[in-house]
Amino acid sequence: MGDSCLTPPQVEELRAELERQLARLRRSMKTTEQAARPVELDQTAVGRLSRMDAMQNQHLTKNLQEREELRFGALHEALERIEAGTYGRCSECDGPIAFERLWVVPEAVDCGQCP
Ligand SMILES: [Zn+2]
Repeated sequence: MGDSCLTPPQVEELRAELERQLARLRRSMKTTEQAARPVELDQTAVGRLSRMDAMQNQHLTKNLQEREELRFGALHEALERIEAGTYGRCSECDGPIAFERLWVVPEAVDCGQCP
């Protein structure tokens, strides 16, 4: 396990937190996916303005989707690092990442002190 400053119970706690956040994110991604579906625009019912609204909304939804996918990947990678035993080490200085930091950002890859 290297000289990570995390105790096994702390790692388990963080793993549970990562899984909770993943489950929550999956639900939210499902909602976003539905919102991202192309809207059938009824020309008679929607005016030009609401058509622009719909396009703008889709743009925002697309941004949200991208952010969610990035976070999904980051959470997954954190779980993989737990499996590999490399979790809780800074990718920059290789020093330990404080439990308090991981508790707030469990997918953190750096110690927070590195530039
Ligand atoms: Zn560092």
